[in-house]
Amino acid sequence: MSEQNLRVLIIGGGPAALTAAIYASRANLDTTVIAGYQSGGQLMLTSEVENFPGFPEGIMGPELMDGMRRQAERFGSKFIDADATRVDFSARVKKVYVDDDVYEGEAVIVATGASAMWLGLPSEEKLRGRGVSSCATCDGFFFRGKEIAVVGGGDSALEEALFLTKFATKVTLIHRRDKFRASKIMQDRAARNPKIEIVGDTVIEEVLGENKVEGIRVHNFKTAETKEIALDGVFVAIGHRPNTDIFTGWLEMNEKGYLVVTNETETNVKGVFVAGDVYDYRYRQAVTAAASGCKAALDAEHYLEALAGEPAEILTAQNW
Ligand SMILES: Cc1cc2nc3c(=O)[nH]c(=O)nc-3n(C[C@H](O)[C@H](O)[C@H](O)COP(=O)(O)OP(=O)(O)OC[C@H]3O[C@@H](n4cnc5c(N)ncnc54)[C@H](O)[C@@H]3O)c2cc1C
Repeated sequence: MSEQNLRVLIIGGGPAALTAAIYASRANLDTTVIAGYQSGGQLMLTSEVENFPGFPEGIMGPELMDGMRRQAERFGSKFIDADATRVDFSARVKKVYVDDDVYEGEAVIVATGASAMWLGLPSEEKLRGRGVSSCATCDGFFFRGKEIAVVGGGDSALEEALFLTKFATKVTLIHRRDKFRASKIMQDRAARNPKIEIVGDTVIEEVLGENKVEGIRVHNFKTAETKEIALDGVFVAIGHRPNTDIFTGWLEMNEKGYLVVTNETETNVKGVFVAGDVYDYRYRQAVTAAASGCKAALDAEHYLEALAGEPAEILTAQNW
């Protein structure tokens, strides 16, 4: 088997998948990216990306993703703009299905990312990217000298609220219960921060504003009071959901559904590698996703090189 015949399937369409595709196709591997119906990933939901190295003036999220895709295509990556619906990792040659179509590869890189959970309000959806965000690290800088709200009650909500006090003049932390799930230490830090106002037993009923966030209407369950608060941004920090349903039963996951890696990008299945937010719930940045896409492609390449050196009977064996 020559190196050109070795096939890599990449599932996902964000920075992790596209970086993996650039590296794999440039290494002369036959690379197919099953990029999903929403190809481009989470950065398609944002406007300006100011922290991706190499763009001193910033770059629009969709433009950055388009550039990564064209770069992968330049080296021969093929793209399928549909969601993988099923996988079969039982044999040496792995199968990925898109409905009834089947794609085969000796190695697979899973980079299906994660989706932020939202409140589900139409006004929230309308103003996403115009003051409504789910990423403090990404968008906090845009709120210098402004007033904002953070919604959520876990450690990450409190962490985001504390982080955002570096930019905002006031952070209203809105939680639907009176007690937080967050650790005591985080609660103490938030309570001690003079810029944070904690508002419990309260939900946001509507995000106000036509073209940008101008405020929120909130309802307090305990007092039955409804009021409007004028502010410039809303950070929803109620969790993320990794896109891993189709890997259930094949790949090891943690209790929240994130894929578990052994040895950098390897999974419990030989020849299946992971990259990006689908396993990395800690950093969740485009540059870290891209970096792990690079690592996964290099690891897949080494795996395939070793495979190419195997005797023919092992290579042709259905199961191994
Ligand atoms: C609003 C917002 C703003 C952000 N701003 C910044 C920023 O300024 N700077 C920064 O560094 N980071 C930013 N981030 C974070 C960054 O976007 C993510 O960390 C990064 O996109 C993760 O890349 P990924 O490739 O792992 O996954 P994702 O970007 O989540 O991409 C995963 C892709 O896989 C696809 N997919 C899922 N399931 C399947 C399937 N079954 N078959 C095929 N495809 C599938 C999805 O549709 C998606 O296209 C932002 C995130 C958001 C939400």
